Amino acid sequence: MRILVTGGAGYIGSHACQRLLKDGHHIVALDNLHRGHQKPMDMLKSAHPESFHFIHSDLGDTKTVLGTLNTHDLDTVMHFGALAYVGESVEDPLWYYRNNIAAAIGLLDACDQCHNGKGINRFIFSSSCATYGNPPQDMIPVPETCPQSPTSPYGYTKLHMEHILKDYATKRDIDHNPLALTMLRYFNVAGSDSAGLLGEDHTPETHLIPVAIEAALGKRESLSIFGTDYPTDDGTNIRDYVHVEDLIDAHVLAMNTTKPGQVEAFNVGIGKGYSVRQILDSVKRVSGVDFPVHDAPRRAGDAIALYNNPERIKSTLGWDAQITDIDEIVSTAFNWMKANPNGYSKES
Ligand code: UDP
Repeated sequence: MRILVTGGAGYIGSHACQRLLKDGHHIVALDNLHRGHQKPMDMLKSAHPESFHFIHSDLGDTKTVLGTLNTHDLDTVMHFGALAYVGESVEDPLWYYRNNIAAAIGLLDACDQCHNGKGINRFIFSSSCATYGNPPQDMIPVPETCPQSPTSPYGYTKLHMEHILKDYATKRDIDHNPLALTMLRYFNVAGSDSAGLLGEDHTPETHLIPVAIEAALGKRESLSIFGTDYPTDDGTNIRDYVHVEDLIDAHVLAMNTTKPGQVEAFNVGIGKGYSVRQILDSVKRVSGVDFPVHDAPRRAGDAIALYNNPERIKSTLGWDAQITDIDEIVSTAFNWMKANPNGYSKES
């Protein structure tokens, strides 16, 4: 297929490009490089000079995206480009709505107008378990039927985008020009590719596993646990950590399975929850370093416990996580960060 990957220079988007190129697809990655990196784009270009292209642009730049979709004759969009920090979204909600919704509508305009108004055929959207907010106790592990009630602006941006995309898919049905739409609600994504080429390099870094690894590598003095008084076994939040390559596998299955006129939503998570303390223990085991940890107040917007009920994605797409051992997931992230102590940006 011929695929536009928005946010292609980011952590998850670059892993998607790598896998899709390996599978023989024609890929155009689009990224404003606000948080993405040029280096993985250069690496992928040199490995796949014919089938990979990088466009430095904002995804809300409809004219550029439209030109890209038409010039490269792209039929599928995987939309990863978004701001993705819960805490940051509470501090600057308008920025999150502007980026994750207003810009995404610019992208959708291009998706609608391309190919002489026929539009693209397939759209795969990075949604989030943050759309569920704090699920009721009897809905944990969380199925797709769980009511969606976010606790943060970030979660709302993802939920609003789901509604916008469904409405757009309905319009395409009315036009007798059906779209295949899949919305994948990610749980917490972690790890690096098995070849050790790509990794997670955010500035600022706020995600638990990379922050803990930075503490283990001596790049920060200590780590704070945001909330130790939650109603969980050890008082800390519970999350479901899915390996990035397993997550991309779900995208490939969705792309190959969802048919025109179908609108699907799947949770992507391994189906097992780990507390913050359990994650820190794993990073300490994997690194062999007992870094200092401090108790800190709760972080605004955090849900108490979120882990997936993977039944639907298993039975419908045939997806199952291949890496479910938390130490194995953490090891892949640790190995990349150890080998690239300065991330992508500087010489390591
Ligand atoms: N967390 C923490 N200390 C940190 C970073 C994260 O205690 O330095 C906690 C956070 O409150 C949440 C969990 O780790 O309960 C996962 O947070 P992360 O930011 O990695 O992902 P999120 O679930 O917000 O998407």
